[in-house]
This record gives sequence, C-alpha cells and structure tokens, in this order.
Amino acid sequence: MTAMDELSRAAGAPWAARGSMFSQPGLARPVAWATAHDLDRLRASHARGRLGKPLVPTSVASPRLGDELFARLLTYGTPQETHRGDVLFRPGDENVDLIVVDRGSVEVVRTETADVPAATVAAVDAGGFVGELNLLTGQNVYLLCRVREGGTVYRVPPERLRQLMANDVELSDIVFKALIARRELLQRSTAAQAMEIVGADRSAAALALRTYAARQRLIHLWFDADTPAGRAMMESSGLTEDDLPAVVLPGATLKQATPGALAEKLGLSYRRSSTKPVDVTIVGAGPAGLAAAVYGASEGLDTVLLDAVGTGGQAAASSRIENYFGFPFGLSGADLTGRAVLQALKFGAQLASPCQAVKLNTDRKGDLLRLHLQGGEVIDSKAVVIATGARYRALPLERWPDFEGAGIYYAATELEARGCTGSPVTVVGGANSAGQAALYLAGRGSEVSLVVRGPDIAAEMSAYLVDRLQAHPRVTVRCRSEVTRLDGGDFLEEVGITDRTAGTAQVQPCSGLFCFIGAEPATSWLTGIAAGDDGFIRTDVQLTDDDLGPAWATLGRRPLPFETSIPGVFAVGDVHSGSMKRVAAATGEGASAIASVHKAIATLA
Ligand SMILES: Cc1cc2nc3c(=O)[nH]c(=O)nc-3n(C[C@H](O)[C@H](O)[C@H](O)COP(=O)(O)OP(=O)(O)OC[C@H]3O[C@@H](n4cnc5c(N)ncnc54)[C@H](O)[C@@H]3O)c2cc1C
Repeated sequence: MTAMDELSRAAGAPWAARGSMFSQPGLARPVAWATAHDLDRLRASHARGRLGKPLVPTSVASPRLGDELFARLLTYGTPQETHRGDVLFRPGDENVDLIVVDRGSVEVVRTETADVPAATVAAVDAGGFVGELNLLTGQNVYLLCRVREGGTVYRVPPERLRQLMANDVELSDIVFKALIARRELLQRSTAAQAMEIVGADRSAAALALRTYAARQRLIHLWFDADTPAGRAMMESSGLTEDDLPAVVLPGATLKQATPGALAEKLGLSYRRSSTKPVDVTIVGAGPAGLAAAVYGASEGLDTVLLDAVGTGGQAAASSRIENYFGFPFGLSGADLTGRAVLQALKFGAQLASPCQAVKLNTDRKGDLLRLHLQGGEVIDSKAVVIATGARYRALPLERWPDFEGAGIYYAATELEARGCTGSPVTVVGGANSAGQAALYLAGRGSEVSLVVRGPDIAAEMSAYLVDRLQAHPRVTVRCRSEVTRLDGGDFLEEVGITDRTAGTAQVQPCSGLFCFIGAEPATSWLTGIAAGDDGFIRTDVQLTDDDLGPAWATLGRRPLPFETSIPGVFAVGDVHSGSMKRVAAATGEGASAIASVHKAIATLA
C-alpha cells in the first residue's frame, strides 16, 4: 500500500476532509511528502544547515476554503473535464496554470531520475488547488500532476493568477501563503530529489551554483562529491569528476553546470511574453533594487527586475544585520532579501537572474530606453533604475584569482563558512562587514585573525562590534598588518601576514580568507552618465548645469530625486554617489525613486 493509499483511507481525518494533503503540517505528519525515514535521511545527509526557519507556518499549505471563497477562486479559472490518468502538467512545462479541483482528485508526482524512483509527493481532492511558488517565479514545472479520480478542474492561467493577487486581498493572502508554505515543505520532502546538485564541497564553480540555488530558493539536494552518498549518486547518474559540478533533473543532466545554464533550463532567464514596453526595468536585485521592485509593482507599474548573479545583492552576504529598522534581534541578509523577493513576486514584478545588463542606450528611441543584456536580448522600457551596488575589492596578491571561491570569499554565510568550520581563518578589513564576519566565524569554532591595515580597529567599526571582538576568546585583532602571501594546492591552505609595526612576517594555516576591504561601483557597463571622480553615479541636486544635455531643455524640467543626468534613468543604493552604504538607506532610496519614476513617465507621455 502506498503512502497515498494510506492517506486516502484516512480521508475521514479532519485535515483530509476537504482540500489537499498539502494541509498537513509536513514535518510533523510527513506521510504525504515522504516517509519519516526518508525525511530523516534527507535532512541528516544532505540538507543540514540549508533549511532555515519557514517563512510561514507550514500548516497553511493547504487552506480550507469556505464555499464562498472557493466559488470566487473558480471564477478566475476555465473548467476542464478530467479522466483518471490525464496529465495536467509534466516536468519542463512552461507557464503552467494553478489547478483548482472542483470534482474528483489529482496527485502530484516527482518523476524518476537516474538514481531515484518516482514518488508521489501530494494528493489534492475536491476543494483544493495544485500549485506552488513557481507559479509566480515563472520557473518551469519540475513535478508531474496526474488525475487520480475524474471530475472537473479549473485552470487559472498565470495572468489571471496575477489579477487575483492584485484584486482580491482575502483570496490572495490565502493562496500566496499556501504557495510559500508548499515550497518550504517540498524543499524538506523527497520532491527535493527532482533536482540534485553534485560537486566538490570547496570548488568555486559548485559554490556559485549552490549560491544561486539557495538565493532562488530552488528545491534541490546538494551532494558533496567526496562523500559516499555523492559518489553513489555520481555513479548512478553516469557522472565523472570532469563533469562536476553537475545538476541532475528529470530527463536532463547538466554537466559542468553554471548558474546561467541552470536558469536557462529552469526557465528563470529573462523572457518576455508581452510585446508591450516595460514601464520600469530595475538593474540589480540587492536591497535597493528589490525595494524599487516592490513599490513599482505594487503601484501598478509593469516592473522587470534583473540581477547578474541572483537576488539579494551584498546584503545576502551578511550573516546577521542588526541595525535594520524594526528587527531588534537582527536577521540574516538572505532572510531579509528573500522576503522582499516574495513581496515583489506577489505584486507581479518579473524577476530574472542570472541576467547581466551590458549596455544602456542613453539616447531614447521615441519614449523608450533600450537595455542590452548579456546574450543579446534587449529590453525597451519607459524608465530604468540602476541599483547595481558595488563590487568588493581584491588584494593584489599572486594566486588570488586561483583561490577565489576556493578559500577566498567576499561573504561569510553558511555556504562559505561550511568548509572552514573549526579551522583557522583570516578576515581582512576594518569596517563593520569585516567585524560581523569575524564574529560569525569565531562563533562557528574557528580561530579568527582579523587583519586591519590601519592603526585602530575602532576607526571605522561600530563600537558594539569592537567590544564584542575584543572580548571574544577566538578572535585575534592584528592592526597595522596586511596579508602578503597566499599558499595552497587546489584550495587555500596558508597565508603570510606582515606586521608593519614590528616588521615581521608570519605564515599561518588558513582554510578561508574573508575579504572586506571596500568596494567600487558596479558601473563599468554604463557610459554617458554623470558620475563622481570615484565612479559613483550623481543624481538630482548633485548634477550641475554642465551635466544636463539638450534633452533636458526639451523636457522643460530639472532632474527629479534620484534621476541621473539621463532623463528617465535613476540611480539608487550603494551605486549612488554619497550613499550611506547601508541596507536601510538602500531600501529607502529604492522605494522613494519610484515616486520619481511615476512623474518621469508622466512627463514623457
Ligand atoms: C558582509 C556584509 C555585511 C553587511 N552588513 C550590513 C549591516 O549589518 N547593515 C547594513 O545596513 N548594511 C550592511 N552591509 C551593506 C549592505 O549590504 C549594502 O549597503 C546594501 O546591500 C546595498 O544595497 P544595493 O541594492 O544598493 O546594492 P547591492 O546589495 O550591492 O546589490 C547590487 C546588485 O546588483 C547586481 N548587479 C551588478 N551589476 C549588474 C549588472 N550589470 N547587471 C545586472 N545586475 C547587476 C549585483 O549582482 C547585486 O546583486 C553589509 C555588506 C556586506 C557585504
């Protein structure tokens, strides 16, 4: 008897009476998702440390809709008669519909891959609906939906789902929370086996792939190729070391996989179905760009948000932000920006990554600005918001590029720190980001050398961090010092630290060098926009008459707040000249710029 059959027999149980088996609190009563044994095995062997606290209680995964609400949900869909065995969607399908079950029942199945047999992950009865977060992200389907008992389903296409989200607050709240809860539950279930990533634990290419998967909240399992489980998975999938990192999906294996190739396969690259120009394209999905997307989309603008790497920006590299308004106990940057991503999706913003902007045509074609993407696509929009932030500087040392991602990191989160737990590490930099990283790594059992070039750690760092660092038994602060040498094989193993006061050099073991030594604006792709000597973009009152070309005379107005020297192009967050380089400031600027975008679009019309 299968788990699903057992569930059918349990139909008298209150949680199964009407609706879907998504309604179980998943981990507590996991029968619809996987056996308890499977879940324990998955959590213990692969998912450790990756599964954060759910954003919404998993109990909301399958809401019980009252008759009136259910009838309202049906009005968004189109009816379809079904028969046992009909397939309603299958892995790889694009732009799938939300499926509302009016009569009969359906099941959701993870199809077999090279190393795992098929498994049913959920069953949905009359009164419930099938769908999870990819209905909003645009990700291709990775599961199969099949009719168990014939009847009637209503298909709600993506466009109608967006209307529901925008127009019906009560229904949208219930559906949206259910989609998020299902994503959380599926990530913890055998459904995660629908996408398996395998690679060397400390390889830069594997780290890039895992960072992308984590930031996109992709349902997946990670296998370290150096473990017995990893080797077994590689063998059953026919993979060799030369193929790593690799991604195994139903019916497809990506060898030497990159975030770009994975995004392409999953349908998360930029694609536009409408031929209409976009109202506002936002380049960069850090806090500033995300805030602009949330406010733009929620205020009815057709909004596209792109990021060259993945959503979250620098903030996603912060393990703990303590100075963000309203969060007295702090929160991780990934949590904060993850919530913002969901908010932007809920309001209908289109997100695409990895998706790099390579050029902006600053001479408007008619009323439109043309943005060029790597890969050749173009996006025509009425306004563009530049929120590309800043890039971390590197040290000019021999072998630095060899160790980037293989012992040298510009972030200190679970993903980077994992390979260094309990081993000695070096943090370089004297500002808050370096202080936070040092404390985080010391908290994970590493002996931390904090290397600061200046004479005094308190010069650039907040007092609360300085006090904690000085009191921490595993942190050694080394002022007037510099890292002057790197050594290792495939991975960083040792660093040389020179003490400029004593004139001595010391070589010490180092499994991770975390570098936070300031940043440069990510503007190399832009030309023709007024910037300061340091390259950061100037806007509104920072612009002089000399910066403003003839286009402004025709428009008959001065630049609006956050508007650059090019009409309709805005700059917000860290990329903006004189910005505060803080999350709160970046989100404030992103949100405020949307008021100017509205005005600019109105003056162009
Ligand atoms: C480790 C660390 C800890 C920090 N801690 C704190 C803290 O505790 N409190 C605090 O207030 N601030 C903190 N900060 C600073 C804060 O994260 C930044 O000020 C904030 O993220 C800036 O947001 P942003 O959106 O302007 O830019 P970013 O966060 O830098 O985001 C820019 C985004 O643009 C993308 N991009 C760049 N070029 C392109 C292109 N050509 N095409 C498409 N996309 C592109 C990038 O991939 C990136 O995702 C910390 C930073 C770090 C690194």
